[in-house]
Amino acid sequence: MARSDKGLSRTRSSIALTLEGDRYLLIDASPDLRRQLEDVGIYPRGVEGGGGVRRNLIGSILLTHGHGDHCVGLFEFSTGKCFNIPVYGPPDLLGYLFGDGEEAGFFGSLGRLGEDYLDPIPLGEDEPLELLGGLTVRGFDVPHTERRGGVYTPSRTYAYEVEYRGRRLIYAPDLGGLTGELQSRLDGLDLLILDGTFWWDDELSRVSGIPKTSYELGHIPIADSMEVLDGIGVGRVIYTHINHTNPILSPGGSCTSILRGRGLEVAYDGMVIEL
Ligand SMILES: [Zn+2]
Ligand SMILES: [Zn+2]
Repeated sequence: MARSDKGLSRTRSSIALTLEGDRYLLIDASPDLRRQLEDVGIYPRGVEGGGGVRRNLIGSILLTHGHGDHCVGLFEFSTGKCFNIPVYGPPDLLGYLFGDGEEAGFFGSLGRLGEDYLDPIPLGEDEPLELLGGLTVRGFDVPHTERRGGVYTPSRTYAYEVEYRGRRLIYAPDLGGLTGELQSRLDGLDLLILDGTFWWDDELSRVSGIPKTSYELGHIPIADSMEVLDGIGVGRVIYTHINHTNPILSPGGSCTSILRGRGLEVAYDGMVIEL
């Protein structure tokens, strides 16, 4: 029902951060990217009197992992003027997307995306990165993507910690568990945006008859994460990456009341957050 009801449906998760409103840092490039950027007025657009020249407001892009709902939207930057937008992410992810010298990579056969339009830059774990003239960003490993024969498929998964003048946020839209390492970063955190794909571990079998659990798909269910977060004292917690089976999309439902009672929030398209 949530998918067909305009008020309840959601596009896929991504966020854009800005300091002054003139340049943006995009985290993840969903298949809905064009609509999302247009809705908030930051899609590359023609300059008035510029003879077809487009202006780009996306200063850089961070990618969390290689699942399609987080990265295939990059092709939106593959037409018109070449902006050479830096794209950061786990090294194995950038190899998978743009090639490693021998293999062409996912985008390698789609034209000059990784040569002229984007500038892929592998980001080591916890390596500090200065962006937008003041933000410090760090990517760190979180459990989510499957590991086959010791290799992450299609890539490992980062969550991102962003700091600006002592204020900190963590963005972790796909998260298999609140590990001890992640919990150690939550102390004094101002904003946590995290995986709210499913409420129950067995939600897919309950609602859609699909015999896969939330944990099997690499997502900690909200019923568990809210217990772990209880008492940790994060300033603000917002669930994102909501599946359309999730009962928190039902405005008057009991799960929605439970979340509200704990002061936890649910993201929606076009949500603006000031930190
Ligand atoms: Zn994923
Ligand atoms: Zn996802």
